[in-house]
Amino acid sequence: MTSMKKTCKKCLLPTDYLNIEIDDKGICQHCRNFSKTEFLGPEKLLELVQEPLKRNQSKKYDCVVGYSGGRDSTYLLWYVVKKLKLRPLAVFSDDLFIPEIVYENMENTCRILDVDLRTIKHDNLKKCLPHHLKAWIRRPVPESLAVINVGERIGYETLVEETAVKEGVHLIFGGRTPIQEEERYKSELIKLSKSPGRQGKMDWIMGYGKQVLLNPALVSNLFCLKLQYKEFTVNKWKQKLIEENDLTIVYPFYDYVHWVEDELEEILFNELNWKLPEGKINSSRFGCEADTLRQYLFYRTLGYNDTHVDLSYLIRDGQISKEEAKDKLEDSLDFGEGYIEYILNKAGVNGKQFIQVLDRKYPETA
Ligand SMILES: [Zn+2]
Repeated sequence: MTSMKKTCKKCLLPTDYLNIEIDDKGICQHCRNFSKTEFLGPEKLLELVQEPLKRNQSKKYDCVVGYSGGRDSTYLLWYVVKKLKLRPLAVFSDDLFIPEIVYENMENTCRILDVDLRTIKHDNLKKCLPHHLKAWIRRPVPESLAVINVGERIGYETLVEETAVKEGVHLIFGGRTPIQEEERYKSELIKLSKSPGRQGKMDWIMGYGKQVLLNPALVSNLFCLKLQYKEFTVNKWKQKLIEENDLTIVYPFYDYVHWVEDELEEILFNELNWKLPEGKINSSRFGCEADTLRQYLFYRTLGYNDTHVDLSYLIRDGQISKEEAKDKLEDSLDFGEGYIEYILNKAGVNGKQFIQVLDRKYPETA
C-alpha cells in the first residue's frame, strides 16, 4: 500500500503536508528552521528532583512513571531506574485494546528493572469506540479523527497524578519529547483557519462545531458526548490536581536529556528483551490498537501520519539518513494483512464494510 509521495528534499514530509512551505530549493520550513535543542543535562535534572523527593511521604517509591508499554515510556522507565537511580512505581492505564505482546514486554521490563507495575483497567474507550467509528465513517475526513480516541486519555491523563497522591509521592516523570511536539498537525487540522500561528482554543471549538454540523452523528450519543467534553477539559482538572497536591512533573527527554534513537533500540532489545510483533522490524509504532487504527486512518485520509513526522525529525536531528528513514517508514505503513480489520471488528464495527467505504473515498492510499 506504500506509494511514495513527493516530499521535501531533506525530510519525509509530503509536499501536501498541512501548512507546508517548500522553498525554491525544495526544502520545507521545518527543515529550514530546525535548530538542535540545547538540553540542560542530567546533572541539572538530578538537582531539580531533590526538592520534590524531600516532600515524599512514601517509604517505598521515589516517583511515579506513566507507563504505556510503548517504547517511549519504556525508555523513560529504564532511564529513571538506571541513570537516576530512583525507585519508581509504574502506572499503566489499560484501555482493553492492548496486544498480548505489549503485556509480555511490560512484564519483562518491570521484572528486569525490578519495578512494581500497577495496572488499572477502564472501559471508557471500549464503550465509545463503536459509536465514534460508526459516526466517523458517515463522513470519513481527517479533521474529525480526534473523536476516535475519546475514552483513551481519560484513563491515563489523571491516573498517574491520582496514584501519586494516593501513594504519598510528589515526583512524577512524563514521557514528552521534542518529537511529539512536531505531531501537532492532528489538532491543527480541525481548526477553521489552518495558519500555524493561530492556536487559540476558540479556533479549535469553532472547527469542531463545523465538523459536527457536517456530521451530527459525531455527537448523537449522550454518554460519548459527555466523555468528549470531559476529555476536552481534562487539562484543567489535571492542573488542579497538580496544584492542590503540590506535585512536580518532570520531562527528562524534553528539557534535559537528548533522545537518542540508537541507544533506545539497544536498550529495548538487548537489555530489556523486547519482542516485536511477527514480521515487524520497527519498534516505533505498536501498542494500543486504537492508536494503531488512528494512525492507519490518518494515513488513509491524509497520505501521512505520525511516522512521517517522527522520522523527519530524526533526519533533521542527524540521527538517521533519509534512506534509512524511508525503509522504516515503509515498514511502519505496512499495517499487516487483516490487522486493521481485526481491530475494527474488535471495536464493534464491521471491518470489511468500513474499509470498503475508505477504499472508495481514498483510492490513492488503498
Ligand atoms: Zn523538510
